[in-house]
Amino acid sequence: MTTLRRHAVTLIPGDGVGPEVALATKRVLDAAAAAAGVAFDWEEAEAGAEVFKKGDTSGVPAATRDSIERTRVALKGPLETPVGFGEKSANVTLRKLFETYANVRPARELPGVPTRYKGEGIDMVIVRENVEDLYAGIEHLQTHDVAQAVKLISRTGSEKIIRFAYELALREGRHKVTTASKANILKFTEGLFKQVGEDLGKEYSSLEANHLIIDNVAHQMVKDPAQFDVVVATNLHGDIISDLASGLVGGLGFASSANYGDGVAIFEAVHGSAPKYAGKNVINPTALILSSTMMLRHLGETDLADVVEDAVLATLEAGKALPQDVVRQQGGDVEAATSTSGFADAVIQSLGSRPTTVPAAASRPRPIDVKPHARWTSGEAREREVGGARVVGLDLFLQSLAAPAELGAKLSALAGQELTLKMIESKGTVVWPNAAPAFDPTGLFRARFLARAEGSDLPDETLLALAARVAGVAPWVHLEKLRVWGSEEGFTRAQGE
Ligand code: NAP
Repeated sequence: MTTLRRHAVTLIPGDGVGPEVALATKRVLDAAAAAAGVAFDWEEAEAGAEVFKKGDTSGVPAATRDSIERTRVALKGPLETPVGFGEKSANVTLRKLFETYANVRPARELPGVPTRYKGEGIDMVIVRENVEDLYAGIEHLQTHDVAQAVKLISRTGSEKIIRFAYELALREGRHKVTTASKANILKFTEGLFKQVGEDLGKEYSSLEANHLIIDNVAHQMVKDPAQFDVVVATNLHGDIISDLASGLVGGLGFASSANYGDGVAIFEAVHGSAPKYAGKNVINPTALILSSTMMLRHLGETDLADVVEDAVLATLEAGKALPQDVVRQQGGDVEAATSTSGFADAVIQSLGSRPTTVPAAASRPRPIDVKPHARWTSGEAREREVGGARVVGLDLFLQSLAAPAELGAKLSALAGQELTLKMIESKGTVVWPNAAPAFDPTGLFRARFLARAEGSDLPDETLLALAARVAGVAPWVHLEKLRVWGSEEGFTRAQGE
């Protein structure tokens, strides 16, 4: 057949079992494409362990970055983060470099794959924010023995990912979007995410929108997973519940994923490099093959995506080619399991077949790739983000082994004319002026100083002079300005404040 369409794709085989699953996937795609008059121009590129070993601490060499910038699409095997070479994960580096803010992980019941939930009709998509939250990786030792990580959630980031989730629901013909958060405890970070979910829910009136606390999501997912349709969460929570969701439908051998940015998309299996299986041709390649169907939809090759997905479903349903993880689940002899390359052969032979016990991909509402918009946040919200605040005080984090009463007396005396010491807390609980019933010192305190006068807008000099005075009593480790926007306070109260 003459080639009608060509697509350039960056192929990163990756580490461990990566090259095996990447080769299996490439073979399936090339075979399916050839029959449809499509061709891929694969640009093979390096990332991960070997790159770290060569001394490139990013794990992603310039040639790989250039290739992705050219093709805008990458199919990627798992990447190891070897201890002792680079500090940062090459996966996270790729996400950050190309700002792939949306991580999409579908979890659907698959025929022939044994699970505890067989027949319940699990079919959900977890949409995980991919570049913010604790994954910003901003950590500091506050004392030698107290570590802190910054959980960063922006309105823009929340709007981008939550809108992405609603759009995905519409385009996949889904009916419900659950925003999952820990807003009950983390009022600002997770609270912002929850609020944006509720605000955007009003714009998508044809969809059912609800909010669940993330721990309840975990509980409900195990108890009654079929109730979920699209679930959107911040980065760490999304990471955890998407692994949970993949465990419901057969495990890592079947868990596919896509990372979408405004200009670049990277498709990969959820699993890692599974080093103990590397080079043995035994690992299940389904996860990456299913990830590649997401790539095909992204490239506009919807029919081809359906053909490949249906061939995978038909292969699993037929039960003749069973990868080792399925055989193990069934209690069978893993020595007799189908190899990685053997499974790819079986899928290639099934191209053109459709499953009969589950809906064929071609018969489901056709998931069209969500093309993100360039701008998401309203101008009004952006202005609020950068200006209009008054400074009403200072939180001063300091190291001290003193008793709270002694520290309180000393710091009160240093507050000066414009400020007053409001409270001292440890691990978020007030220990001065009221003593906490159970105080377990860590060596780190937070002292909150507030402006004495109503309506104050404290200048930096006042705050810095206070910090200098306090330094004479105990070393301070970081400062947080306390600000208000109109009557809206930009800081939470401590427990007991
Ligand atoms: P892993 O590589 O995902 O493997 C853990 C276990 O999951 C394997 O031992 C195996 O279980 C099962 N498994 C993984 N892939 C499978 C597949 N395709 N089919 C069937 N079963 C599969 O996790 P890890 O051992 O924690 O991580 C190894 C390395 O991978 C680390 O360096 C980590 O940083 C990296 N990693 C990379 C990515 C990525 O690139 N996106 C993701 C996660 C981890 P059994 O032993 O029970 O057979």
